Amino acid sequence: MADRVLALDIGGTKIAAGLVDSTGSVLRKATCATPVGDAELIWAAVSKTMHVVLDTGGVRAVGIGCAGPVDVVTGTVGPINMPTWQRFPLRDRVAGEVPGVPVELAGDGMCIALGEHWAGAGRGSRFMIGIVVSTGVGGGLVLDGQPFGGRTGNAGHLGHVVVEPDGLPCTCGGRGCVETVSSGPMMVRWARERGWPGTDAIELERSARAGDGIAVAAFDRGGRGVGLAIAATAAVCDLDLAVVGGGVARAGDLLFDPIRLALSMHAGLSYLGGLRVVRAELDTNAGLVGAAGLVARC
Ligand SMILES: [Zn+2]
Repeated sequence: MADRVLALDIGGTKIAAGLVDSTGSVLRKATCATPVGDAELIWAAVSKTMHVVLDTGGVRAVGIGCAGPVDVVTGTVGPINMPTWQRFPLRDRVAGEVPGVPVELAGDGMCIALGEHWAGAGRGSRFMIGIVVSTGVGGGLVLDGQPFGGRTGNAGHLGHVVVEPDGLPCTCGGRGCVETVSSGPMMVRWARERGWPGTDAIELERSARAGDGIAVAAFDRGGRGVGLAIAATAAVCDLDLAVVGGGVARAGDLLFDPIRLALSMHAGLSYLGGLRVVRAELDTNAGLVGAAGLVARC
């Protein structure tokens, strides 16, 4: 039996497939842009990408991470940013292409958390949240060393913790979720509304490093939002670690300083004294490694 698994990481922007070994190393990888179109067009791209990495050596299992919401009970997905996939039977479709082996499905946030826990910055932690701050904000929980998806597989989705009750409307139907404050596009929007002339989060980081007051304030506000959400989650789940990754987290101390400041103000319970916040290590492979980890951790 091959000691390798097939991992899939499917999002609204990119589809990735990889062969991953029992240590979490990615042996082969293929990616493609997620097409915009009907459900079968997207599925065809997933199928094609997975067959690019599959060879005659076989795999012993398949792990799938997909943008959420997912439903691990039915094996279906309905990503907010892939509107033509509604209750799409992703697990059964994949199982049909790779017959005879176990197939596991989880949300992409869970997979990123699990990837960092297995082979990245979360190694050795027992109770952690993995967080992605990017075009959106997502996350997943590893509790007592095991991925914890909750009833349908969506537990740990930190992006919809409310940090500004009277804040902006959110895609979830609520208001003031951390995603409306701390995602790259929303930080850019907040800065632009105050006169900052740039257009994207990379420029915003550059401006903040150059000392632009609005850009610095945007990172302070964004980091504070993430920090508040971590504080709330850590208090509820009794965590020892938060691993933060994603494109916005590449700004480093610009984001992490206000995260830590917020925690110093809002995570004062005695059992949170050991809570650490660290930067993710796996970067763009975290989701793929975590999807493999669903079925391959030794
Ligand atoms: Zn929301």
